[in-house]
Amino acid sequence: MTRYIFITGGVVSSLGKGLMAAALAALLQARGHTVRIKKFDPYLNVDPGTMSPYQHGEVYVTDDGAETDLDLGHYERFTGVPSRQSDNITSGRVYRDIIAKERRGDFLGATVQVIPHVTDAIKAFARADTEGLDFVLCEIGGTVGDIESLPFLEAIRQMAADVGRNNVVYIHCTLVPYLAAAGELKTKPTQHSVAELRGIGIQPQVLVCRSEHPLPDGDRAKIALFCNVPKEAVISALDAPSIYDVPMQYHAEGLDDQVLAAFGLDAPPPDLSRWQRISERLHNPEGEVTIGVVGKYTGMKDAYKSLTEALVHGGIANRVKVNIRWLDAEEFEGQDVAARLEPMHGILVPGGFGERGSEGKIASVRFARERDVPFFGICLGMQMACIEAARHQAGVAGASTTEFGPTDEPVVGLITEWMSAEGRQVREAGGDLGGTMRLGAYPARLAGNSVAASIYGADTVSERHRHRYEVNVHYRDALEAAGLLFSGMSPDGLLPEIVERPDHSWFVGVQFHPELKSKPFEPHPLFAGFVAAAVRQSRLV
Ligand code: GLN
Repeated sequence: MTRYIFITGGVVSSLGKGLMAAALAALLQARGHTVRIKKFDPYLNVDPGTMSPYQHGEVYVTDDGAETDLDLGHYERFTGVPSRQSDNITSGRVYRDIIAKERRGDFLGATVQVIPHVTDAIKAFARADTEGLDFVLCEIGGTVGDIESLPFLEAIRQMAADVGRNNVVYIHCTLVPYLAAAGELKTKPTQHSVAELRGIGIQPQVLVCRSEHPLPDGDRAKIALFCNVPKEAVISALDAPSIYDVPMQYHAEGLDDQVLAAFGLDAPPPDLSRWQRISERLHNPEGEVTIGVVGKYTGMKDAYKSLTEALVHGGIANRVKVNIRWLDAEEFEGQDVAARLEPMHGILVPGGFGERGSEGKIASVRFARERDVPFFGICLGMQMACIEAARHQAGVAGASTTEFGPTDEPVVGLITEWMSAEGRQVREAGGDLGGTMRLGAYPARLAGNSVAASIYGADTVSERHRHRYEVNVHYRDALEAAGLLFSGMSPDGLLPEIVERPDHSWFVGVQFHPELKSKPFEPHPLFAGFVAAAVRQSRLV
């Protein structure tokens, strides 16, 4: 039987609910249960695909091609369970589907309303794709009290009646602020937030209280009394030194025990050895390397969330601390790139959209190539590496990408038709922004004795994509003659997926986003390989 855990947030946003959901799921797994985590986002965008990374952070892409909230990345990194389309829903999508049905006449003349139509759709989403699972955790985005969250809260309230009161547990995550002037933690915001939730008909059974100081026993008792929860179910959550310490920290505070107790379940203690090993490696590095990330959204760290984590994982694999230097590509233009890049043991040009900063990225590729510094280009980064090779090695001076405007030398161009596992895919050149990308998992075949094949230890790989443009295979011969090997191709041989330089210490460009599949307990081989190359480089300089 599947049990549901609903996680709401109160007082302020950014409390780390997503991380809490991920850590709790990891703890339940460590106690032998199967889990899946879903995210409800109350905003009206149909998905975050068209939202600026400055607003919303990274767009996390699933194997089945959904553009989702970055919290799904935490879920996957902590549980290893691949996220799917059916794990993220927004108000926009719910309303879009309901209105489409209404237009088709599917409601047979009924008045279409928030209750029951919207709430039914939300409940159906919570239950979709959950067969055979022990626990489904659903995180509700936003903060209790937001107008937009109300249909979601009403739906999760109804779920208890639908699946049985004993099969649902509500967790509320709040802030217990510290008032320096009074020298005290304040419980009143938590009391109000829980009161608001109870007004909607939801009595949370576990409270996760984020605070800068441990909750004194008296405050815990007070919160328990006013919020009508057992004192042991008031969990104190302090900031952790690393996010990968969070599962162990929550276990020490009793979170998983309290959730299981709320279900009336007993389970053997968790096997935390996986998390202990990660923590041990993270906190006892044997060296450090510095990686320069030359990107565009460097002022908004969440825009590169998975990338940052994948570099941390590469550090775990090599027992080193990875220091990331965020370098704004735009600032490079017309500047002394060498002076900025010389201190780096590795250079990474990440994914991105638009022309801004591209000349700085191309200059960084050139620096890495000429100085034999380990280079990793991801998506736009690989495209920039191909343009750099075309311009400076293959004699194609005007090489560019059609993304930046019309060009006579489209080394990177818009492709409107390609083959996927499901057959021929076609996109309209002028279609909706949200629907014109190559999204989700696609296979790539690796060339026999390439760096790529030896890194992966495989001849075919599947990786996730999110891009509109492709490296133009018509330039392959010219680029290979200039020293850039096309070592990974789509199975039909038309789409370049990986490029590398056999004559370089470590130079790899990939059209996909390997960072999306990296996990602390299973670092992605490309990130492990890149960081290993950076370690070698650090011994040279
Ligand atoms: N802007 C490029 C494209 O659309 C690269 C996208 C990316 O880096 N994710 O093809």
